[in-house]
Amino acid sequence: MTKLPMKDSFHLPDGIIYLDGNSLGALPKGVGERLQSMVQDEWGAHLIKGWNIDEWMAQPARVGNMVGRLIGAPEGSVTMGDTLSVKVFQALSAALKMRPDRRVILSDSGNFPSDLYMAQGLIQQLDNGFELRVVAPEEVESAMTDEIAVAMITQVDYRTGRMHDMAGITAAAHAAGAVMLWDLAHSAGAVPVDIAGCGAEFAVGCTYKYLNGGPGAPAFIYARPDIVADIQPALAGWLGHDAPFAFEPTYRPAPDIERMRVGTPPVIQMTALEVALKIWDDVDMTELRSASVRLCDLFIAEVEAKCPSLRLASPRDAAQRGSQVSFAFEDGYAAMQALIARGVIGDFRAPNIMRFGFTPLYIDETDVREAVRIIADVLDNRLWDQPEYHQKGRVT
Ligand SMILES: *Cc1c(COP(=O)(O)O)cnc(C)c1O
Repeated sequence: MTKLPMKDSFHLPDGIIYLDGNSLGALPKGVGERLQSMVQDEWGAHLIKGWNIDEWMAQPARVGNMVGRLIGAPEGSVTMGDTLSVKVFQALSAALKMRPDRRVILSDSGNFPSDLYMAQGLIQQLDNGFELRVVAPEEVESAMTDEIAVAMITQVDYRTGRMHDMAGITAAAHAAGAVMLWDLAHSAGAVPVDIAGCGAEFAVGCTYKYLNGGPGAPAFIYARPDIVADIQPALAGWLGHDAPFAFEPTYRPAPDIERMRVGTPPVIQMTALEVALKIWDDVDMTELRSASVRLCDLFIAEVEAKCPSLRLASPRDAAQRGSQVSFAFEDGYAAMQALIARGVIGDFRAPNIMRFGFTPLYIDETDVREAVRIIADVLDNRLWDQPEYHQKGRVT
């Protein structure tokens, strides 16, 4: 196992403290070279033969297994493709089919909007009396009644970093007879996850955050092996078919997790992700988690000592927090722009949250102290109060 951090495994621009790996991971070394060779030596030289000789078609399963190891999923239970929003839709529709006499999708107000929007869109499409019930995060377990068909919960809150107890909530869902769907967007590569151990039916997540797959990297979907053969895929694409190249007129799903594939995989993106995932061969997740807790605790202590105008918006107890720390500040947007201009990159989430992600693969305690020194300077001297820092970009 390699000692953390592993800064040498990443391209990190000089003068930047990157506290946004929870939103878009840094570029791992070797990705550029591998993409160059993939494009020239595989696509360029082999053309369509690449699907077989370069094993592009097997990539979703191969990469799925690499992700599976990080979330405690057995071999052959994870596949890759599409975006997380699409995978949420697939898992949700499959889960509803498993409880035909129930009509409620349970989620919480800390979920990421796209997950809630996908549920709303699916409900409209089904047009059959389904309901999305959104409760406060601390009410999820008590809201688990026999009306709930599926509980769709994101483990780590994108805004505050608040982390749910996966085992406890899954047990509550199952006790109520509901199907459990976990969104691991801010968990995979950030905290140890044992998806098989908790017994949830489905999990989904993205790979461009803590897994460093690059912008637009494909999402993952897990289904518990014992239920997979009964899943009725709503997005019945040809690559989820049992025999795509038989070109049969009628859809017949693959017997395994491959049925959650839809269409042609994004081979170039998947190649970048495959290189990025190799880093994890050398990482002990328990060690990563303790480094993450140390960094987050240090950040909170330093900010509270040096930046009295910021208010902690994340749980103080590390056991209830993912790998990010958020602070509320009324002029948080402008303050974050001023920080970014000074090389401390975090991000802003409406209405007033300054969000800082800690990825122990490439952040250490020196970075944390230096970041807080710059934050204090920006706040003490109101450096954020400049017109250019108030102009909102398309992406915050
Ligand atoms: C990042 C994130 C998404 C983004 O979905 P995409 O389809 O990949 O854009 C969705 N849900 C959650 C919980 C997220 O954190």
